[in-house]
Amino acid sequence: MFPTAQSVDTLIVGQGPAGLSAAIYTARAGIKTVVVGMPPKIDGEYDIDNYFGFDETVTGSELMARGRQQAERFGADLVTERVLGIHHGMDGAFEVKTEHSTFMARSVILAAGVSRVRPGISNLDDYDGKGISYCVSCDGFFYKQKPVMVLGEGNYAVNQALELKNYTSDVTLCSQGKALTMTDDFRARLDEAGIPIIEKKVTTLEGSPALERAIFDDGESIAVDGIFIAMGEASASDFAWTLGLEREGIYIKSDENQRTNLPGVYAAGDCVGRFLQIAVAVGEGALAARQAINHVKKTAKEAAS
Ligand SMILES: Cc1cc2nc3c(=O)[nH]c(=O)nc-3n(C[C@H](O)[C@H](O)[C@H](O)COP(=O)(O)OP(=O)(O)OC[C@H]3O[C@@H](n4cnc5c(N)ncnc54)[C@H](O)[C@@H]3O)c2cc1C
Repeated sequence: MFPTAQSVDTLIVGQGPAGLSAAIYTARAGIKTVVVGMPPKIDGEYDIDNYFGFDETVTGSELMARGRQQAERFGADLVTERVLGIHHGMDGAFEVKTEHSTFMARSVILAAGVSRVRPGISNLDDYDGKGISYCVSCDGFFYKQKPVMVLGEGNYAVNQALELKNYTSDVTLCSQGKALTMTDDFRARLDEAGIPIIEKKVTTLEGSPALERAIFDDGESIAVDGIFIAMGEASASDFAWTLGLEREGIYIKSDENQRTNLPGVYAAGDCVGRFLQIAVAVGEGALAARQAINHVKKTAKEAAS
């Protein structure tokens, strides 16, 4: 299913202003750059009046089309796919798994914007660390042969559910009342692994001192020790969980040069949560790119010596 991993210098998650700006810098510096992302929200008929250099209103779709063309002009490879997970790989590299490929990247720039998808469970926060998790790689181990459920409707949720099968045979996927968006090949993999789908919504959690049961909107319940939240697509904070990046709420912590606490991983734009504007995202993308370029050159030199 997944061909051999492709090696890249910099993998950028997100084709929004931050990701494309970073790609323009890394690709122009001769760094092998892949940008994986779905079209950003701003890529539509929205009027933008406050971005530098346009004396007339420009639409979001025009601005983004220009950004993509500019990044491609310098040799960046733009891949319109979802990133499902990022893990530590061999020799300080990072393994980035998308819907159809795997990349080994020397550096990663997270420019995935901000996601506020919440499952809408009334007492979810009460079970934080007591059965609710956002990261299979971090917490799957704690549920060896225990009943667990993944909440989510798309390919990301399927990927999390399949990863959980490494720890327990008792895995269920619940769409949280949403229409299923997983693609046929991912649905087939779920069926093959024997993971059932429940298309209802969990409204409340029960159990003391930790999670024991999830209650659905029709009053029925399921016994579960763990629930993994994987709604929509994997967000910047999901990647932060897996890689062990410091966070501030839903945002990734970065310094004034967009460095995270992990060498080789940088974050830019809305996902770091400063001033959620295009101009700021573009500037932070440039700063992150400069750091990624330095990291790639330094690690290449170390590998050669
Ligand atoms: C309707 C609207 C109007 C706005 N108007 C203005 C304005 O006039 N002026 C202004 O300055 N700002 C405006 N903004 C804000 C501006 O759009 C954002 O600040 C800016 O787009 C942030 O850029 P970004 O690259 O950080 O994130 P985003 O633009 O959000 O891009 C993030 C990218 O990451 C991708 N992504 C996320 N997770 C994954 C994954 N798992 N796999 C693959 N890809 C993923 C997303 O699909 C997206 O492509 C507006 C925003 C909206 C929604």
